[in-house]
Formats: sequence, structure tokens, C-alpha cells
Amino acid sequence: MSLKDPSLLRQAALVGTRWIEADASTGIAVKNPATGELIGHVPKLGASETKEAIDAAAVAQKAWAARTAKERSAVLRKWFELMIENKDDLGRILTMEQGKPLPEATGEIVYGASFVEWFAEEARRLYGDIVPGHQKDKRILVMKQPIGVVAAITPWNFPNAMITRKAGPAFAAGCAMVLKPASQTPFSAIAIAVLGERAGLPAGLFSVITGSAREIGAELTSNPIVRKLTFTGSTEIGAELYRQCAPTIKKLGLELGGNAPFIVFDDADLDAAVEGALIAKFRNNGQTCVCANRIYVQDAVYDAFSEKLAAAVGKLRTGNGFDEGVTLGPLIDQAALEKVEEHVSDALKKGGRVVSGGKRHALGGTFYEPTVIADVTPEMAVAREETFGPVAPLFRFTDEDDVVTQANDTEFGLASYFYAKDLSRVFRVAEALEYGMVGVNTGLISTAEAPFGGVKLSGLGREGSKYGIEEFTEMKYVCLGGI
Ligand code: ADP
Repeated sequence: MSLKDPSLLRQAALVGTRWIEADASTGIAVKNPATGELIGHVPKLGASETKEAIDAAAVAQKAWAARTAKERSAVLRKWFELMIENKDDLGRILTMEQGKPLPEATGEIVYGASFVEWFAEEARRLYGDIVPGHQKDKRILVMKQPIGVVAAITPWNFPNAMITRKAGPAFAAGCAMVLKPASQTPFSAIAIAVLGERAGLPAGLFSVITGSAREIGAELTSNPIVRKLTFTGSTEIGAELYRQCAPTIKKLGLELGGNAPFIVFDDADLDAAVEGALIAKFRNNGQTCVCANRIYVQDAVYDAFSEKLAAAVGKLRTGNGFDEGVTLGPLIDQAALEKVEEHVSDALKKGGRVVSGGKRHALGGTFYEPTVIADVTPEMAVAREETFGPVAPLFRFTDEDDVVTQANDTEFGLASYFYAKDLSRVFRVAEALEYGMVGVNTGLISTAEAPFGGVKLSGLGREGSKYGIEEFTEMKYVCLGGI
């Protein structure tokens, strides 16, 4: 595996103003999930390094916020350009540690960079308000100020984009960030930091701390200098971090689990629905929080849809993400594989029928066959829990109200999708789905221009879009009297 610029694969953490090199004997070993091969080590850091980074961030943040928005924008623009220039190397590092096919990994780099580009532009549009006053001699001003030092904790499924989606708006708003990336995929985060330095992010503004999640997390959540925590990961850990942040009343941004319904009505364009289902279900091998988890198909088109979907799934190719033509990589680890297996065996035990796949892949390791299961019912585990793997469970329904009720019958509320042509139905269903996001006649909804986020146990706040930057600001009301 060769990189055009090998210095992007750095076995070190960026702590405040200094790099700490990894030591192979004490560091965390990072392995390629497709082959089990060792990629390298990152330092195993803890509370003291995290505190050091937070202190450095507090200093750097003040100077950064004092710059003009245009100056901040220029640094972010440069950072974006460096990401695009190095997208092939960044994609390779991502495939190596995460497993997704190389074209998909490079796609993530471009997608991730788009948040930095977008927020480089938004930096200059962080407008306040002048509000009509309540007394003749008074004027009311509302200004938006950076919230200060931000802590970020990110997952392994999008090792690049989950970081840029947070760092872009944070830096645009004038904040500093201390990041704890997932231990499975730290090299993508470190490469972003290397490019950040080259782009001119001032020393101390951005730290990447690798090591014990519990220890680093405890410092990030308890340190009073940190004013906001932005987290993407499981609802369970999100709730724990929420609790830990309570004593210091931090602002929270939480992007948590989902259990996305994907509804195919009988007036849908079936070929388009199959294409959408493939993207919504099998992207990243089913390991995204917006992946279709429950596919509801109306009676009249159920058989036709399942046949078409099984045929399309049959064309997917599982393998090492570096191999030409591979569309699905491995699952991230053994635990992920076991969860997928449990969900499938539970469904089969309760009357589900395998239409395609249904078992571990002949490649071994953590590879699993892309799977379609028909005759799925609400009693099965796949109906309630996020599978986070390449399994498409098909439910049959007859009635619109009933399917909306079923779709909403979950504690989660992140993404939802449906395919229909009737305009009244499109509005009715889009309004009735209790989700932060609804894809209508599309399986791909994420983009820098749109507000990404969930309701209920799927989280708090929105990322991306013109709203995303607000999450990193505080409003200040200034009352001018004696005029
Ligand atoms: P996933 O299933 O995506 O791994 P997790 O919620 O377990 O979701 O992990 C998401 C991120 O949260 C990772 O960076 C992980 O290291 C981190 N994390 C896990 N447990 C804790 C914790 N107790 N405190 C802080 N961060 C944690």
C-alpha cells in the first residue's frame, strides 16, 4: 500500500501545540479489518494530555475568534483544497483502516471536504439581528459569538466526514476543537490534522487525542473550559456523555442511532425504489446510522420488489476494499458480525425467509453476504434494533396509515425514506413520519447544504446547512440604553 505523500499516515497524536509520537510497545495497534494486518500504532493517551489540549485550545480560540471571518474562511478554504488535492491518499488511508471500497472511501473524502468548503463560505454569513426596541431610548442587538472550546467524539463508520462536519462549523464560528476519534480509525483523523496544520490552522486550535475513550471522554465532559460536546455514535454512549456533561451544563450536539424505515408504496417507480434501497441499505455495508433498517413494501408490489431487489443484491461484490469491482467491504469487527448473524437467525427462527445471502461470506474474516429476508414481522429483532450490517428485511403492508404507525413505532427518529408518486400521499406521509429527515423517492439524503439530525433517541441538534453553524455559537443580547 503506497501513498503519494506518506507523511499523511502519521503515527502520532496532536496534543495542543505538540505532536506525541506513538510507541509500538505501549500504543494502540490499528488493524485493517479486511486482512487483519497491522497498519500502525497511535499513542494511548489519557486525561492529562486531554487537559493539556483543552488548555491550549482555550488560548488558541481567543486569538482565532479575534480574526476576521474572512481570514478564518481563507484558512478553511485552503484546508478544503488540500483535502481534495490529497483525496486519493486520504481515501486509501480510510479504506485501509475502515474497510469500505476505495471508490466509496474517496467519495467520503470529497463529501467530508464539502463541509469544510460549505462552512468556509458560511463563516462570513454569521449574522446577528437588530430587533425593534421596547422603549424609545433603547436599541436591541443580538450577536452570535463562538461558544468557545468544543469537544468532539466521533465513530469509525465515517472516519473523515463525521469529523469535518463538526470541525468545519466549529472553526468557521471561531471555536477551537479537541477531538477523540474512534480507536479503530484514528489515521484518517490524524491525516486531517496534518492537512489542517499545512492549511494554517493555528497551533493549539485543533487537537486529535487518541487513547482510552473512557478516560479522554471523562476529561472532555467534566472540564469546565469545554462549552460544547458534539458526539456521533451510539445512543447508549450518547446518553452516558449527556449525563457526564450535566454538572458543567455544556451544550450538546448528539448524532445517535437510527432505525430507518424505507417504505415502498404501490404507486412507486419500482426500479427507482430498488436503486434507492440499494444505496440506503448497502452503502458502507449497512454500517451507517441512516441506513434503511426496515423495508416496508405494499402488498401489490411486494413480490415484484423483492425479486428485483434480490437480483440487484446478487450483483453486489463483497471483498477487500482495495480490489477492483468490490462494492461491499468487511464488517468493522467480530462483534458487528455476530450482531448481524444474531439478527438473521432470529428472523429465520420466527418465520423469515432468505431470498438472498443469509450467512457469513466464504471469504471468512468479518465478511458477510449481502442478504435479503422476506416475510419479516414486528416481533423480530431486525424490526426493533439497528442491524448495522448488509441485511435488508422486507415487511409486507396494505394500508398507508398502518405503515406510518409501524414506521413510527420506534424510539429512534433519524432518517426515513419512502417511494410514492401520488402528490397528496407524498405530503401526508412526509409530514406524518416522526423523523428528523425524510427521503422521498431517493435513498441518498446527506449533503452539506441540508440539516442532518434526528429526533427522539436519535439525538439533539443539526449538522451541516446554514443551521449547523448556530450550534457552535452563543447568542448575546446587548441592550443599548440612553439613546
Ligand atoms: P460505535 O458503535 O459507533 O462504536 P460508540 O458509541 O461505542 O459507537 O462509539 C463512538 C465513539 O465514542 C468512539 O470514538 C468511541 O471510542 C467513543 N466512546 C465509547 N465509549 C465512550 C465513553 N465512555 N466515553 C467517551 N467516549 C466513548
